[in-house]
Amino acid sequence: MDKETLSELHRVFQQIHSKPNWKSELDVLFGAMRGCFVFDNAAIYLEDRLARGLDVIYARAVGRGKGSEADAAWGENVASEVISSRRVILETSRGGKKQDERVERAFLLGIPLYIGGQLRGAMAFVRFGGPEYVDQHIHIASLLTTWTASVLERKELLEARAELDSVQRQMRLQDDFVSTISHELRTPLGFIKGYSTSLLRQDTTWDDATQREFLSIIDEETDRLAKLIEDMLESARLQSKTIQFKFSPLRLDALVRDVSARVKTHHPDLKIDLKIEPLPQVLGDSVRLSQVLENLFSNAIKYAPGSKITITAKRLAKKVRVYFSDQGEGIPEEFAPFLFERFYRVPGERTVTGTGLGLYICKQIVMAHHGNIWVESVLDRGTTFIIELPIDPTL
Ligand code: ATP
Ligand code: MG
Repeated sequence: MDKETLSELHRVFQQIHSKPNWKSELDVLFGAMRGCFVFDNAAIYLEDRLARGLDVIYARAVGRGKGSEADAAWGENVASEVISSRRVILETSRGGKKQDERVERAFLLGIPLYIGGQLRGAMAFVRFGGPEYVDQHIHIASLLTTWTASVLERKELLEARAELDSVQRQMRLQDDFVSTISHELRTPLGFIKGYSTSLLRQDTTWDDATQREFLSIIDEETDRLAKLIEDMLESARLQSKTIQFKFSPLRLDALVRDVSARVKTHHPDLKIDLKIEPLPQVLGDSVRLSQVLENLFSNAIKYAPGSKITITAKRLAKKVRVYFSDQGEGIPEEFAPFLFERFYRVPGERTVTGTGLGLYICKQIVMAHHGNIWVESVLDRGTTFIIELPIDPTL
């Protein structure tokens, strides 16, 4: 190999490794190969064993093939032949209809594609009007195929790793959930049991005020337990999509005001600042959407105690947006992507109780409205949850 070829190879390799994804890696590879081996169209076919067909996972058109990039049917026959015979196929096809026959004559080359030692598909090249493919081209095309195979193998490994990470995280969450849930169930039960046993003791009499105090603790803890069980059932129903939503035209500005007023009666000291412009109607389930806001209030009260809450509502071209902000401690950036997962709680020292279901429930409800919810948080500044719902064009 001469010096020039070596340095060219080195350049190509370096370029490939600087690319962010497998498709741009292949773009570099195929682009570089055009320098030593002419083709008008190239495509990679992978066998889809379930559907018993071929998937085109990459296609590139240059020169005379341009414009037909999306259409990779030209190589399907060659690719199938390569796969069934497990060898390189060379073919010349003749078209008849056009006057200029040279243009219509296609030289096809198919190379088996082995990934991880298994025949998984084929690469196909076509060149219109010749010259024919010769041994040297076949060697270069085979080299290109080997490189492609390693790019694809890496892609598959990365995908498998991402899936594994997600499964592992899910398993960890399930583990955490069992310990959280048993703690969350035991705490209110402990209070209820303790205070009712005290009240029932025959050797002690309690004055009226103390009795009322004990009973109100029992009452509150029962509510907490009921809410927890309701959240668990709700999240299970949302996950299995067995919840019936009752959609009707509603105005989010009115809904925000109603829920804020309700929360205020339970938390008279809470500062809520509403910056709401009149909004067009959306199609929504008012009970479920109230639940979303209630969960956000519950979080702000728990995780940003004493902070003012600001709710801003705005109209965009085809959507309405509600910003729900507190001025609490915020959420470290690395945890933000997982917040809406079922059972997820930000790790760390925990004095605040919770099961990690609230935001999961919010997300499922908003998605059922074809909307979106996400979080933006700055440490020591505060957290904003943003809800976006589509405006129904028929309303
Ligand atoms: P649950 O809502 O089921 O009682 P939870 O409040 O822990 O439990 P989510 O509402 O899903 O669960 O919230 C997930 C996590 O996100 C919380 O554990 C908390 O760490 C973090 N979080 C949510 N809202 C805020 C907020 N406003 N400020 C800071 N952290 C928050
Ligand atoms: Mg919560």
